[in-house]
Amino acid sequence: MTGQNPVFIPGPTNIPDRLRYAMSIQTTDHRAPDFVELLAPVLEDVKKVFKTRNGKVITFPSSGTGGWEAAITNTLSPGDKILVARYGMFSHRWIDMCQRHNLDVEIIECEWGSGAPAALFGERLEADKNHDIKAVLVTHNETATGVRSDVGAVRKAIDASSHPAMLYVDCVSSLASMDFRMDEWGVDLAVSGSQKGFMLATGMAIVGVSEKALEACKTATCPRCFFDFGDMAGANANGGFPYTPPLQIMYGLRESLKMLFEEGLDNVFARHFRIAEGVRAAVRAWDMRLCAVSPELYSDTVSAIYVPDGFNSDVLANHVFDAYGVSFGVGLGEMAGRAFRIGHLGSLTDVMALSGLAAIEMAMKDLNYPIELGSGVSAAQEYYRATTGVAQSKAA
Ligand SMILES: *Cc1c(COP(=O)(O)O)cnc(C)c1O
Repeated sequence: MTGQNPVFIPGPTNIPDRLRYAMSIQTTDHRAPDFVELLAPVLEDVKKVFKTRNGKVITFPSSGTGGWEAAITNTLSPGDKILVARYGMFSHRWIDMCQRHNLDVEIIECEWGSGAPAALFGERLEADKNHDIKAVLVTHNETATGVRSDVGAVRKAIDASSHPAMLYVDCVSSLASMDFRMDEWGVDLAVSGSQKGFMLATGMAIVGVSEKALEACKTATCPRCFFDFGDMAGANANGGFPYTPPLQIMYGLRESLKMLFEEGLDNVFARHFRIAEGVRAAVRAWDMRLCAVSPELYSDTVSAIYVPDGFNSDVLANHVFDAYGVSFGVGLGEMAGRAFRIGHLGSLTDVMALSGLAAIEMAMKDLNYPIELGSGVSAAQEYYRATTGVAQSKAA
């Protein structure tokens, strides 16, 4: 294999050459006085992506899951009650982690393919007159089902019940690809990582922490050491790290932020929407169905697609890799065997997206799926032609 094909998994994502070069640096001393010149502006710039003014950005050498653990252990105590809905594999895994940390987890079971149930959260909070619930947890973009939830609606539900619970949001597969508004939505802990929207190597958890969450650290008693916010923020403030930082990723992040700001965050979001719409046009042309149950839930970073009855999505994902050397996401949890996923986030163009659609069509045809070769590709082509902007002005 050439290693030149893009991946269509929803993370880790394709790393643009510019970022591979930025991460290709010789070791420098993170205890040298100039480290702070790298670190401080990077942390400040990440705040613009979270859209927070007063929040703090805290990173750890870890994947996104470590960010979850940091968010929980720094702000909660064993036995604390939290409210969370399960509607996919990532919300499921976050619940599991909370239970292992001996939190009292109140779970709202939802259909996979639906999103965060703001109204139900509101009802539970309304009923919680003693304010036992300390936190509401939301997975902004459920990567297993391709569902984006309305975090602003959850905030409104919390406020409408005048409940002091904090709001924790997993934005691992949405930050830097879809709009995220930490301050406006009153998010207290926003958890992300380096290898999805930031287009970098895996190895850095990136957490946005509100002032209220920082305050909660003072009384939270969950055991923590490696992931201690205080240790990290304290060291960062003096231009250092409590242990060895992932230096290459830090340099990569500086360049990634430059790329995002050069394109403009709104343009980044618009590009993700456009590419996703092309993929969704292809799904319709195949006469197949998305896991997301309604259009307002459609994710612009990943599409989970049910295969027709009698077909196994894992066989499809294996075949497209074996035959054409292209990776797609398999079905996770309840979706295993029933759905495959097209990841379309990070560094992606129309041309790349079309190549993925073409490859998966060939694999489907090989496996006798009832589809017309080229049908999805041509639906996406029509959409991309019609919306590129340049083609229309040339034609005019
Ligand atoms: C990828 C992902 C995670 C886990 O991140 P890791 O970096 O693999 O630990 C968590 N939540 C969501 C929604 C994700 O997409």
